[in-house]
Amino acid sequence: MGDFDEARAWMVERQIVQRGVRDDFVIEAMRRVPREAFVPFDLREFAYDDTPLPIGGEQSISQPYIVAKMLAAAELQPGDRVLDIGTGSGYAAAIAAEIAGRVDSIERDASLAEGARERLQRLGYENVEVHVGDGTAGLAAHAPYNAIIAAAGGPRVPQALRVQLAVGGRLVMPVGSSPSRQRLVKIVRRDEHDYDEHAFADVRFVPLVGDDGWPAPGGVPHADSRPTPEPLASTPATPEPAALTPAAPEAAAPEPAALELALRDAAEPLPDIDSAEFAASFDRFAGRRVVLLGEASHGTSEFYRARAAITRRLVERHGFSMIAVEADWPDAAIIDRHVRDRPMPGERSRPFRRFPTWMWRNTDFMGFVAWLRSHNALHRDSETRFYGLDIYSLSESIDAVLRYLDSVDPAAARIARERYGCLSPWQKDPAVYGRAALSGGYAQCEEHVIAQLGDLLKSRLDYAREDGERFLDAAQNARLVAVAEHYYRAMYYGGPQSWNLRDTHMFDTLRHALDSRGPQARVVVWAHNSHIGDASATQMGRVQDEINLGQLCRAQFGDAAALIGFGTHSGTVAAASDWGGPMEVKTVRPSLDGSVEFSMHGTGLARFLLDLRPGVHDALRERLRAPLLERFIGVIYRPETERYSHYAEASLAEQFDAFVWFDRTSAVTALPVSADEKYHAAETFPFGV
Ligand code: SAH
Repeated sequence: MGDFDEARAWMVERQIVQRGVRDDFVIEAMRRVPREAFVPFDLREFAYDDTPLPIGGEQSISQPYIVAKMLAAAELQPGDRVLDIGTGSGYAAAIAAEIAGRVDSIERDASLAEGARERLQRLGYENVEVHVGDGTAGLAAHAPYNAIIAAAGGPRVPQALRVQLAVGGRLVMPVGSSPSRQRLVKIVRRDEHDYDEHAFADVRFVPLVGDDGWPAPGGVPHADSRPTPEPLASTPATPEPAALTPAAPEAAAPEPAALELALRDAAEPLPDIDSAEFAASFDRFAGRRVVLLGEASHGTSEFYRARAAITRRLVERHGFSMIAVEADWPDAAIIDRHVRDRPMPGERSRPFRRFPTWMWRNTDFMGFVAWLRSHNALHRDSETRFYGLDIYSLSESIDAVLRYLDSVDPAAARIARERYGCLSPWQKDPAVYGRAALSGGYAQCEEHVIAQLGDLLKSRLDYAREDGERFLDAAQNARLVAVAEHYYRAMYYGGPQSWNLRDTHMFDTLRHALDSRGPQARVVVWAHNSHIGDASATQMGRVQDEINLGQLCRAQFGDAAALIGFGTHSGTVAAASDWGGPMEVKTVRPSLDGSVEFSMHGTGLARFLLDLRPGVHDALRERLRAPLLERFIGVIYRPETERYSHYAEASLAEQFDAFVWFDRTSAVTALPVSADEKYHAAETFPFGV
């Protein structure tokens, strides 16, 4: 249980205290209540992630931060009588019971109520009574209440609840005109007839179903009801599919015209990528130790060509001698040997043969590798080396998992494919990993999968040792093996932990590689915007507590790191529809009104560089501090649900030191993955067909 205590302390610090909850009663209560006892056994290891989790019956336990925020707003005091509507797992009731005198908790689903009752009893909460019934009517028999909280969202605050508030009492509940999207509303009863009322946060709760709430699913639809409420309680609202998003005139959207004008003023038009001047614009970052170059998708030619041009210049003119990319370490090691003309380890050394192959097997990257090889041939005493940051070999590991599951349990394999499609943080869907963990077959495969992945890692590390590539010393090696199981479990089940572990490992690999080359060594990093743009400036960091490579680089290297993002309005992109699916050339939808891309498109410029360093365009930076939607396309692109699956809010000015814009872009040209294993000594060896 020690693990859980530690995780709980960390959760309270990171997700509750650091995000601004100040109520000491709530903070102390959250430190005490064992959330792991309120989630299904199979999901216990996610108990302290910042996410709701499924608890059965299409319902979910609330996200800890939202519980804390609601209870803090309800200003619970020792001795209070509290009404908790929507018992669910009983977690919120337990937190309330830690603080208040007595808690009545009411749940419409009898089996959830029964489960919560037993759980609360077992944990020794004697001051909570769980009732089965419709919470929209309150509980007149036990009223008045000093505080009423509801964990489900209704179209309005039921009149019965107002009446059951004591004078001075506080009510906090989600209210919205759609069953899946609400504002948290707080009501304070000033006296017999006078109520103060204000809304303070956007949230998504499951619907409050009852006489003075929404009709039951399958019942007579309410005039205002909209399709498919999310089956997950209490997440902060994230962008929804366009069709579900009501116009929000009250939202304080920055005036687009003014932003466009400011962007146009600040934008430095760029020449064609192939012209010599293109990369010269980036000389301002040449003095940095780490230059991180992003991309807004994993399959866009312009992003590769631009990064190649900038990297060439940094290597040729400014003494950069390391290139580290978001790729599996063993694959990158083969490229490294090729560009330094070292013997290949064996006849099987054909890199990047697993999904998503086009990410590296494309003509743009092949051209860059050919250049690097010829550059190194002329500079043998100061060779530039090529590294993969993904030391646990994400693609290879996922591939191994899928192959194994395909052979033993195709149903589990289907779940895994779906889940890997949502590995990216902006494609967050806790329901998916919930389903995965809850399905027995999937859980049964876990041990084998993890053992297999552990073996795979060990053989990789042995191989690296033989290879004489000493940037990992024995202690680092041992540490990798020791934490591998945790990493693979997180990866197998998904969730925010797997993202954080992955980016932390990428950062560690980068640091070890830099250390191995001495204090003067400087590196160019290629990774997706979501890895290199400071996560603390995005919804992923602010709401989901995700950290990333760019943020860790800033923390470690300060001004010696440059974070450069890339973006586009429309065109084509190489991507798949599902994990492991075939590459397709897809049309990139024009960027959404209200996104930062839409404003950049509004400048009318085809290509530009935006310098976001402090002191350069401060007025624009100020504007770009406001969170705007930003598009993220990974190896999966689902234009049908684009807004929901590919947009997240971010403050561009804090996320990046510079941003590179290509208004129209085109898909990379993929190279075939040849089946033959013949050794090709040609310049194009790693990609030889
Ligand atoms: N606070 C809970 C979250 C439960 S989710 C926890 O921490 O686990 C919301 C719950 O509200 C669901 O279990 C749902 O069944 C319940 N619910 C919805 N409408 C209700 C109503 N009118 N009365 C009582 N419970 C309701």
